Amino acid sequence: MTYTKESIKQIVNEENVEFVRLEFTDMLGDTKNVELPIEEIDTALNNEAMFDSSSISGFSDIQESDMYLYPDLDTFLILPQAVDNDRIARFICDIYTPEGEPFEGDPRYILKRAMQQASDSGYTVNVGPEPEFFLFKLNDEGYPIRKMNDRAGYFDASPKDKGDNVRRDIVRTLKKIGFEMEASHHEVAEGQHEINFRYDQMLKTADNIQTFKNIVKEVATNHQYHATFMPKPVTGGNGSGMHCNLSLFKGGNSAFYDNGSSDELSETMKHFMAGILHRASGIAAITNPNVNSYKRLVPGYEAPVSVAWSHSNRSCMIRVPTTRGMGTRFEVRNPDPTANPYLTLAVLTQAGLEGIRHKMDPGEAESRNLYEVTDDSVPTLPTNLKEALQSLKQDEVLMDALGEHTSRVYIEEKEEEWTNYSLQVSQWELDHYMSK
Ligand code: MG
Ligand code: MG
Ligand code: MG
Repeated sequence: MTYTKESIKQIVNEENVEFVRLEFTDMLGDTKNVELPIEEIDTALNNEAMFDSSSISGFSDIQESDMYLYPDLDTFLILPQAVDNDRIARFICDIYTPEGEPFEGDPRYILKRAMQQASDSGYTVNVGPEPEFFLFKLNDEGYPIRKMNDRAGYFDASPKDKGDNVRRDIVRTLKKIGFEMEASHHEVAEGQHEINFRYDQMLKTADNIQTFKNIVKEVATNHQYHATFMPKPVTGGNGSGMHCNLSLFKGGNSAFYDNGSSDELSETMKHFMAGILHRASGIAAITNPNVNSYKRLVPGYEAPVSVAWSHSNRSCMIRVPTTRGMGTRFEVRNPDPTANPYLTLAVLTQAGLEGIRHKMDPGEAESRNLYEVTDDSVPTLPTNLKEALQSLKQDEVLMDALGEHTSRVYIEEKEEEWTNYSLQVSQWELDHYMSK
């Protein structure tokens, strides 16, 4: 939908909107916001809403801490009642400096830069994400406890599946704000769920992922559950991924489909895929951004461990579904839902475009079950955050994709996270070594 300032003012008036919420995403992928009473809507629409960026992760560490919120008018919506009974209009914003320049550490700007690079080569990048999550029970004080909401598994039906009504409520709420919903189901692990919405161009998809996550959490709370996107909340069970289905379009046609080749996949697709595989280790620092992410990327739980591509094998980082024609795409399987979606899609795109520029070759599709391949014939994803960060530091294309500011601050902050984690003595260690 394309809005103007005037049409927005008319709608908020007709709809008795009381507040304007200005949202943006910090470096770690968390949604931040400030709310203005409706009388201040001109301040928002004239790009005059200011905030102190020194307390926002990834924004601090810069001389000037005053930043401005420029609402993207296309992201305007009135929040559904299921989320809030108050009448609130929300915008997703771009961050600008007092000099009127885009802030180079704004994740949305970093993604826009990648989009520009793609469009300079004539491409539109479309992304369909598959975020998974768990529903946990709450204690009497409203805090999550380590008990899932049901004992069901993949595609189980109610009454075993005790999340179906929560999922329907989420779907209903998202439909009200214009999401095109596709399907929802119980996932493999107890208490684990997946809800799919339609692919879109990547900036819109990144915005949608943020909105989706917030609404999942709000609706779950209304049902007295806690929704978590943590990648591996339960030892010994499946984790939560956020597979990203990518496709490139050129002039309204799929740039990935080629009916003249034996597998009907274009050279462009192979190069783009190869670009991503080539930089997989560094990409992981963004797509699998925390200590817990790497506990998901292990054999046996449908999460990828191998840096390879395949037509059906879920142990590979990239899988090409059988759909051809306009639906030709590949699924990057390692991202998890704690990843910042803007940075994730920026690094995947820049790596893929580099693959196209250098006509990189992804090799043959893997047909073996790589969980069972124990030699080192196939490279593997990093086994922890530290390794991933080391690869990221050495990867100029990815560092450029993030920009000077964000690459530096991200690595600093994540190295500190790793160090803090490494210093902790865990229950597992006590159980295993106390008797020594
Ligand atoms: Mg799925
Ligand atoms: Mg799934
Ligand atoms: Mg999938």
